Amino acid sequence: MASLRVVVLAGGVGGAKFTLGVREALARRGAPPATVVVNTGDDLWLSGVRLQPDVDSILYALAGVNDTARGWGRAGDTERVNDELQAWGAGWPWFTLGDLDLGTHLARTGWLREGASVTEVVARLSRRWPIGVRLLPMTDSEVDTHVVTDAGRMHFQEWWTRHRAAPAPRAFENPGIEAAVPAPGVREAIAEADVVLLAPSNPVVSIGPILAVPGVRDALRATPARVVGVSGIIGGAVVRGMADVCLAAIGVPTTAAAVAGHYGARAAGGLLDAWVMAEEDAALAPEVAALGVRPVVSPLWMTDAAASAAIVDAALEA
Ligand code: GDP
Ligand code: CA
Repeated sequence: MASLRVVVLAGGVGGAKFTLGVREALARRGAPPATVVVNTGDDLWLSGVRLQPDVDSILYALAGVNDTARGWGRAGDTERVNDELQAWGAGWPWFTLGDLDLGTHLARTGWLREGASVTEVVARLSRRWPIGVRLLPMTDSEVDTHVVTDAGRMHFQEWWTRHRAAPAPRAFENPGIEAAVPAPGVREAIAEADVVLLAPSNPVVSIGPILAVPGVRDALRATPARVVGVSGIIGGAVVRGMADVCLAAIGVPTTAAAVAGHYGARAAGGLLDAWVMAEEDAALAPEVAALGVRPVVSPLWMTDAAASAAIVDAALEA
């Protein structure tokens, strides 16, 4: 299937690791570059600049300029400007902005100020390096994720980074999303795809906002493409991060089968045709099949691009 057209829905770091595998698996098949629809719910304004954490995580990883040890930002970055901002009492003392990273934020903010859409900005950022995929934001609208907690309402970044997801979340909201539309190209890409992959990203705060953009769910239900999700839960635990706290807030247990149930079977009004789950969770395969979703059991550790590509192969063959 040399013409295999693939669309990926993705969050940040997990999405980036998965996308590296998508790029490799498709290149091996001689297929065209994937379209990656990225969560922009994490986006925020800070010290006058627009940050797009998930877009940048994917961009930097595909360009090979990400800091793999730290898990975010640019390799070899320095923090001179950040130190100055802290000395001024500007920004957030618990949120570091690297110098190279700030270059990205300034470029982005300048283009936005000149009237470019978020889609155009993401396209311009993508041109600097041969990243091998087409990156699209989920929407051009600002629909930053807010968390309603027992300690009050706050931007997702404050809850996640400052409070380490500690104040119990009651709800995740994206103010304004009811009036948002998918970014140009998103619906078309889904409609024309052969396979749509849901990355093993956080189902609530990474994939959730993408699915909450009006029109995206309908496009997924209507596409002739197979829709295949990949579990971010292995052996009943999140691999990294605090997705379990987010899942608990929406009443979904941290199991591969429960997350498959959360996305739902396309045959029953949900999204999934197939669900790639870890070998460690093989015993849950009948539970997934009972939902009307085809279970595919595979190793799911994204230790490097080759391991991620093997997961993508399993998903494409589902
Ligand atoms: P973020 O936006 O940076 O938080 O990243 P994502 O939402 O894209 O991805 C976070 C999710 O990726 C977490 O819920 C993890 O469980 C999942 N994840 C991270 N590493 C792996 C891995 O090696 N394999 C699998 N299957 N999931 C992973
Ligand atoms: Ca994120």
